[in-house]
Amino acid sequence: MVATSAPPRSLRRRVRALHRRLEDHYGSAKRRRIGPLDELMLTILSQNTNDANRDRAYESLRQRFPDWESVRAAPRSAVEQAIKSAGLWKQKARTLQETLQAIYEEQGDLDLSHLKGMTDAEVIEYLTSFRGVGAKTAACVLCFSMGRPYMPVDTHVHRVARRLGLIPAGASADQAHGLLNGDSSVPPELRFSFHIQLIRHGRAVCRASRPACDTCVLEGLCPKIAV
Ligand code: SF4
Repeated sequence: MVATSAPPRSLRRRVRALHRRLEDHYGSAKRRRIGPLDELMLTILSQNTNDANRDRAYESLRQRFPDWESVRAAPRSAVEQAIKSAGLWKQKARTLQETLQAIYEEQGDLDLSHLKGMTDAEVIEYLTSFRGVGAKTAACVLCFSMGRPYMPVDTHVHRVARRLGLIPAGASADQAHGLLNGDSSVPPELRFSFHIQLIRHGRAVCRASRPACDTCVLEGLCPKIAV
């Protein structure tokens, strides 16, 4: 079990202060709201690419196929062609179709409305039971589509949270999900917004190599932990 060193109250206070500064700088976060299956497919396409390429692939997929049932039943090559702009198209086409097939075999249809009756932990366990669907993808369905106060941890959130000392430098992505969504960490009402702000900050300033600490709005609040 990985633990953060700051006491719970001071950790929450720090998160609130960090969030306030980031929101003042980047502006408030807007939530996209699409159905859980749409969100699941979109997030599978987002792996290892940027938002523009992900969105292009998603739009292409939706234009070529009238519904997810058609994607499930399509020849693999047709799905690959449709999502080429997302990169890793062979792997992603396989994950999309295998996930749709697994849901279909389990449910008898492609309806995920039953997720509403599940706890956060149950939704994560259910979604990550599909090959190629990890904790971040499940967290995106929970947070964006279902509106649950659950913070997805992508590569930017993971890196910036470690540099800020919100989680231990050695915490894995799976551990980071548990820690940042724990009772003593990010307040539930801030989880969606803090996720967006950390991504914005990780892309613009707190980059993987050569973070721009000299011009960072979090100067004074950040211990700049090496990761
Ligand atoms: S001060 Fe540096 S390490 Fe800390 S958040 Fe800003 S850019 Fe990242």
